[in-house]
Amino acid sequence: MSGLDLPSGFDLLIRGGLLVDGTGRPGRPADVGVAAGRLTVLPPGAAPAKGVAEVIDAHGHVVAPGFVDVHTHSDGVTLLGASGGGSTLVRASVLQGVTTEICGNCGSSLFPALPERLPAMRAETRITFGGDVGAYADFAGFAAAHAGVPRANHLASLVGHGTLRAGVLGPVDRPARPDELRTMCALLDASLAQGAAGLSTGLIYTPGSYAGTDEVVALAAVAARHGKPYVTHLRDEMSRVEEALEEAIEISRRSGAALHVSHHKTAGRYAWGRTERTLPRIAALRAEGMDVTCDVYPYTAGSTVLAAMLPPWANDGGLAALTARLGDPAQRDRMRRSIAEGVPGWENTVGNGGWDRISVACAPRHPQTEGRTIADLAASAGADPLDVAADLLVAEAGEVTIISHSMVEEDVRRVLAAPYAMIGSDGVPKPGGRPHPRWAGTFPRVLGRYVRELGLLRLEEAVHKMTGMAAARFGLTGRGVIRDGAHADLVVFDPATVADRATFAEPLLPPAGIGAVVAGGVVVVRDGEETGARPGKVLAL
Ligand SMILES: [Zn+2]
Repeated sequence: MSGLDLPSGFDLLIRGGLLVDGTGRPGRPADVGVAAGRLTVLPPGAAPAKGVAEVIDAHGHVVAPGFVDVHTHSDGVTLLGASGGGSTLVRASVLQGVTTEICGNCGSSLFPALPERLPAMRAETRITFGGDVGAYADFAGFAAAHAGVPRANHLASLVGHGTLRAGVLGPVDRPARPDELRTMCALLDASLAQGAAGLSTGLIYTPGSYAGTDEVVALAAVAARHGKPYVTHLRDEMSRVEEALEEAIEISRRSGAALHVSHHKTAGRYAWGRTERTLPRIAALRAEGMDVTCDVYPYTAGSTVLAAMLPPWANDGGLAALTARLGDPAQRDRMRRSIAEGVPGWENTVGNGGWDRISVACAPRHPQTEGRTIADLAASAGADPLDVAADLLVAEAGEVTIISHSMVEEDVRRVLAAPYAMIGSDGVPKPGGRPHPRWAGTFPRVLGRYVRELGLLRLEEAVHKMTGMAAARFGLTGRGVIRDGAHADLVVFDPATVADRATFAEPLLPPAGIGAVVAGGVVVVRDGEETGARPGKVLAL
């Protein structure tokens, strides 16, 4: 190989692996060199190991771009430090092979807000994140807070519409006035200019749910001017999922922003099988030239907060107002009726499924409830399920996380197989309890269960959904692909053994088969264990 003009002085050389480069093209044998945080692709055996600081033997392994988790709620987990039980939670992502997390999803981010709203927002994020993670005026403030806390992998953030709305209006159930909407647009514009990845909504969650379509169109138009996507947790993923998808399409068309549908699902007994309609609708729009994509996690259960099981009017004014209402028997009866009869425009998870499909994931002061369904707790207590849920919420100051067993496998498989669906964990790393195992298992689960065991996806296709496709959607230039000059974010895994091990009972168990992970040219996982290196950055896009 003496005729090759090889760059000398690699910091790291990965030899003997099957290169799956993130584009979806077939894998091929190749070595990969890393120097100064950038990649060089080499013919097998071409580069001498002599003088290289570290050599990783990848025989029998796949060498792929580091995974991009396009959907996380990991905005504050590293800011909690060890006191928040942060380290075990933080580690779960990188041990899966994730080298970039995109947070700020579902309308919720740690910025932006008007200065006078920051103290109230900080109090709210202390509750929702299980510790003091702060609240920030803009993306630059968020990035500065993270800059002081070393991390193994990279982090990018969307601008959450619910946060933006609370940061200007407060958590109130009314339309934004024109001057307030102008302020929201200005705050969004500033954070996007500083490097936030796009705009997200969570139109089932208060206070985002208080916004009508026109408000979101105005904001998405700001994202469009920056060439950044509109990313949405649809207003309904259950019985009205198709109407909710049409609203998102309308927002995209009127604003000019590209559309990305978060954790696409058709959940609840009335919507099972409805992916047979939503996916062809999206495919037809793409065929017409519309820029629309989605993400998905490989589980039939979702996770959210218990408060979201209660109608929007009950959440008006935020968590303190909710718990005050829950103390009033007449208000509880009204909530019971809202769930039984439905409320126009509200998803109503319990009405679509039942309390027997809702289990407690995290209730720090009542660990004995964790892992049990609300229906089961109610039966044991001889009480009505709504009263059990209400008492638990009051006792936990409004913050209880739940797992909702709301989907069927056929729908999950259809979305996973859609050629425009990328992978996002929707992980909610919060100290305590039993979080959804997706935060520790999503990527190995796709590769083990859906590629190797079920043959639903080709390996290269699955890797593309985790890397190149995701990087292209979110503007991660020079990431998500292995080619000369690309950022050195890599994962080395064994395709014969890669598998998730995290379960609902043991949700943070690290996966099998992930050998090495490299972020920013530095080895952060070796032989499945963290090295302790912290080269991760907040990415300004
Ligand atoms: Zn969501």
